[in-house]
Amino acid sequence: MLKTFKLGGVHPAENKLTVDKSISVLPIPKIASIPFSQHLGAPAKVLVNRGDEVKVGQLIAKGEAFISANIHSSVSGKVQKIDNVVDTSGFRRPAVVIAVEGDEWAEGIDRSETINKEISLSQKEIIQKINEMGVVGLGGATFPSHVKLMVPEGKKAEVLIINGVECEPYLTSDHRLMLEKGEEMLVGVQILKIALGVNKAMIGIENNKPDAIKHLSELASQFEGIEVYGLKVKYPQGAEKQLIKALINREVPSGKLPIEVGAVVNNAGTAYAVYQAIQKNKPLIERVVTITGKSVKDPGNFMVRIGTPISELIEAAGGLPEDTGKVIGGGPMMGKALNSLEVPVVKGTSGILIMPDEEAGREEVLHCIRCGKCTHVCPMGLEPYLLEKVVMAEDWERTEKEKVMDCIECGSCHYTCPANRPLLDYIRLGKNKMGQIMRNRAKK
Ligand code: SF4
Ligand code: SF4
Repeated sequence: MLKTFKLGGVHPAENKLTVDKSISVLPIPKIASIPFSQHLGAPAKVLVNRGDEVKVGQLIAKGEAFISANIHSSVSGKVQKIDNVVDTSGFRRPAVVIAVEGDEWAEGIDRSETINKEISLSQKEIIQKINEMGVVGLGGATFPSHVKLMVPEGKKAEVLIINGVECEPYLTSDHRLMLEKGEEMLVGVQILKIALGVNKAMIGIENNKPDAIKHLSELASQFEGIEVYGLKVKYPQGAEKQLIKALINREVPSGKLPIEVGAVVNNAGTAYAVYQAIQKNKPLIERVVTITGKSVKDPGNFMVRIGTPISELIEAAGGLPEDTGKVIGGGPMMGKALNSLEVPVVKGTSGILIMPDEEAGREEVLHCIRCGKCTHVCPMGLEPYLLEKVVMAEDWERTEKEKVMDCIECGSCHYTCPANRPLLDYIRLGKNKMGQIMRNRAKK
């Protein structure tokens, strides 16, 4: 029987419209807006000024805090301004805006397609280099990768888990990357194993991607200590805790990290970025983005320079359809609506979904009928209807007691509710407020 996680989960329509679309390279934009903060943690500190000339791959902002990440220029040209731009969060945040001239790369970056399998760096050097190259988790969380690889004292990593699940409907960027850059990705997995000091890696892929399972399984036989597992299709299997449960049958305790049970999870795209960083000396300056939607004329998967406005991606996919109701950064389950088409692609942008008007609107919100469906599907064992109620009542003590911080924002409750309750909206609000309360408590 195929492995999967036990508690909750849903089966939304897959709609993987771009599954057969090979990755094409999107032309370099005329203007690139590169935010200082594209990762979890403190924003990086800007190193360039207006009027400076920059090259592709040049460090333009330094991650100085413990949890932060370096930012490199994805284009060559002149710094037009340092300004606030609207990013995928909907807020205006500081960014380096570069007027592009040519495509001149910083020295020392290997741009050839030759696959370099020989790993010469030590554990410490790998972690340091991943830090230098600004690699962050590309599955959506954008946690700085070098921090994830530093196993805290007293803990021990036993297994590296590679997340090739891509359970969000519509998105296919990881799927295409596994098919087209599988070998490079597996070298990245070997590098990650050295960084963690483990000799075992497990790659989890849902069995709606049989071509990727077959391809990576064949390739993995040439590498030591990498196994590929086909998983039963169930959302949100791509969430860390659910994937760990599915693959090694261990449960990460509430409020703890995967290392608590000896696991470290990295996304398939991150493994590819690690390969580029270590074997090619190439910082994280581009990524694969799916542009999709039922009315999109020419949906596809593109290799996009960070900082490219999504309007250019939409243009490459045949333009904005007339019946557009909503443009979403990410997939339909966890993604967020964008309020501008000039939002730049950042390290965490896995896809852009254009929803037709008739699907984008929210249904009328009705009274909760206490059917219990939201509780039944919650993969974290929470009671979403109750969380909504206590957050609405601003009962923060109860909100904490009901473990709002355990919510992984998968949207399964919201998806399943027959009364169309905006459960996730209230839960996110509750998490935000609890976060503030907990930070203030820690200061005392
Ligand atoms: S409460 Fe959170 S974890 Fe549970 S189903 Fe809803 S969004 Fe997912
Ligand atoms: S699924 Fe909706 S209607 Fe059913 S208990 Fe949960 S909130 Fe209430």
